[in-house]
Amino acid sequence: MMTNYLFSNHDTVALAEKYGTPLYVISEDIIRENLTKIINAFTKQNATYDINYAGKAFLNLAMCNIIKDMGVSLDVVSGGELYTAYMASFPMERVCLHGSNKTVEEIKMAIEYNIGKVIVDSKYELELLNAICEEHNHVMRVSIRVSPGVEAHTHEFIQTGKIDSKFGIPLKQVRDLFDFSKDLKNINIIGLHCHIGSQIIDEEPFLVTAEVMLNLMKELKEDGFSLTELNLGGGFGIPQMRHDASFNVDQYIEKLMSTVRRICSEIQLEVPKIVVEPGRYTVGTAGITLYKIGTVKEIPEIRKYVSVDGGMTDNPRPALYGAVYDAIVANKTLVSEEQEIVTISGRCCESDTLIKDIQLPKVEPGDILAVLNTGAYNYAMSSNYNKIPRPAVVLLRGDEDEIIVRRETYEDIVAKDMLPSWQK
Ligand SMILES: *Cc1c(COP(=O)(O)O)cnc(C)c1O
Repeated sequence: MMTNYLFSNHDTVALAEKYGTPLYVISEDIIRENLTKIINAFTKQNATYDINYAGKAFLNLAMCNIIKDMGVSLDVVSGGELYTAYMASFPMERVCLHGSNKTVEEIKMAIEYNIGKVIVDSKYELELLNAICEEHNHVMRVSIRVSPGVEAHTHEFIQTGKIDSKFGIPLKQVRDLFDFSKDLKNINIIGLHCHIGSQIIDEEPFLVTAEVMLNLMKELKEDGFSLTELNLGGGFGIPQMRHDASFNVDQYIEKLMSTVRRICSEIQLEVPKIVVEPGRYTVGTAGITLYKIGTVKEIPEIRKYVSVDGGMTDNPRPALYGAVYDAIVANKTLVSEEQEIVTISGRCCESDTLIKDIQLPKVEPGDILAVLNTGAYNYAMSSNYNKIPRPAVVLLRGDEDEIIVRRETYEDIVAKDMLPSWQK
């Protein structure tokens, strides 16, 4: 009887044996399911909408192709992400450039590639973009990022007029910015953008934000600016632990569209196109990381440390902001296994705790640990700290499995090093 942990219908122990560990495993089927949920929710509401996958969560050529095939648009935040999309022959009119401090080089790239839109984050950037577009005889479509005074994290949100954030134009300065934009001939402002946080589980903060933004659109309309697009950003949460609640996209889109339609009719505003930018929701649950367990160290009456062959280099999120993860011993899935509470540590020369106090079957060196929901912001945030090569990424589709990012080698580790002339 097969008792190994199956992820997207694949035997994870067999994957670990075939490709080695640590290993990122990404399911194309789950990515498609996640995006389909959002597409279906908008379709059901008969909405005019766009989905922009936030590429920063996980981006490579194969991922670009999946997004392209699903008819979804793509957010990029740097020249590197833009280049990745370009190399994947992603349709550039569906690319949107973000960032709170875009460089001149990145703006030129965006113009050269003829991307669909730039989300402008400051007055300085608006002028800079206009000037560079003028040099290139180009008119760029633009949305203005607003700091709407709503900030949300998981179940809580705060609403204040003044948010301390490096992102966006404070609500009170938006009308002045639009007034200033009148003289800028090489930009075409078509909408507003905001992004209120990440890993949000309740829809309430999004609905409050939509109201704030629609009222602003109404004011801008009175000032003579007709905007057709309202981008409410990403932030849809995923279950972190196995039994956690997930963001209910269907319910959210239903409430959002009825809220938007009600407010628009109250304030006599045409219903704008609604844009969302799901990063984590698209790919978070579509990924797991497989590790091999090595040292198991018991400190009597204190803690049992279980070490894996990866750590903060492939998943810095627990160290960065205390993110929590769930895990399964892939080769010990029977409920009858004896359980114990352990702490999962990485191998880096830092305390490098991946999971504090998790109940698992009694583990031994050589067991395979699957850490769940690592599809978003894991590979994307990985590093070579301690000169540890990055793991490979395997993509699953149906019963197929293939490498989409190869494992780094020790040659890769020194590939960029150069010797100064006096050492040669
Ligand atoms: C990070 C980010 C997103 C994606 O956030 P998720 O929480 O991954 O959905 C979307 N839009 C903007 C502007 C972002 O900065």
